[in-house]
Amino acid sequence: MHEFGVTKSLVELCNKEADKNKIKKVYKIHLKVGKFTGFSPDSIEFYFEHLKINTKCDTAEIVFEEIPIRIKCNDCGKQHNIEEPILLCPACGSNEIDLLSGREFYVASIEGE
Ligand SMILES: [Zn+2]
Repeated sequence: MHEFGVTKSLVELCNKEADKNKIKKVYKIHLKVGKFTGFSPDSIEFYFEHLKINTKCDTAEIVFEEIPIRIKCNDCGKQHNIEEPILLCPACGSNEIDLLSGREFYVASIEGE
């Protein structure tokens, strides 16, 4: 249930951003979610529907942009996008892996007026 906490922070952040930008109603939240976080967009949406009530995000929807897990192997030098967060090189089996993307979790932008 990690999603409850991150969704709560998300709503707080978007309300703060709305204040800063003099937005009264948020319509859209563009959210980047790296697959390595393991966060499920469905769960985030589920909690969001509850947590947004009586905030500036009341009428907002989240637009998810999932970021694939991309790794670089330090042994064979190849890069791969992988589906599961298993840090092994699919080409040579090495575990000398750098994670290039997939850990992201941030609001790219909000829309409103
Ligand atoms: Zn490799």
